[in-house]
Amino acid sequence: MLCRHCQKVKSNRPRGLCWSCYYTPGVRDLYPSTSKFARRGVKDFNGRARMPEPTSALPGTPEKVAILEQRARLGLSLWHPLDARLSTTPAADEDAPVTISLAS
Ligand SMILES: [Zn+2]
Repeated sequence: MLCRHCQKVKSNRPRGLCWSCYYTPGVRDLYPSTSKFARRGVKDFNGRARMPEPTSALPGTPEKVAILEQRARLGLSLWHPLDARLSTTPAADEDAPVTISLAS
């Protein structure tokens, strides 16, 4: 496989880069890791998360999804007991766990 950046020499460094590209400042950041062990996207998190501010955005709305993205990014609990909920939501999920688990 040729270097993903200069396409001239065989890649012999991680991320499919050649030695000189890999160690050229800035080049490495242009190419995400190809390792299956690398962390990508929002950091995974397990454990007790801090409580976010409750939101008035209704479940399923783009506003709520944006709130969830922001909470995940900040390492906050995705759900808050006082978040706005649809009136048909049963009270059974009152005790929803506060741990964050992100699909990868
Ligand atoms: Zn190169």
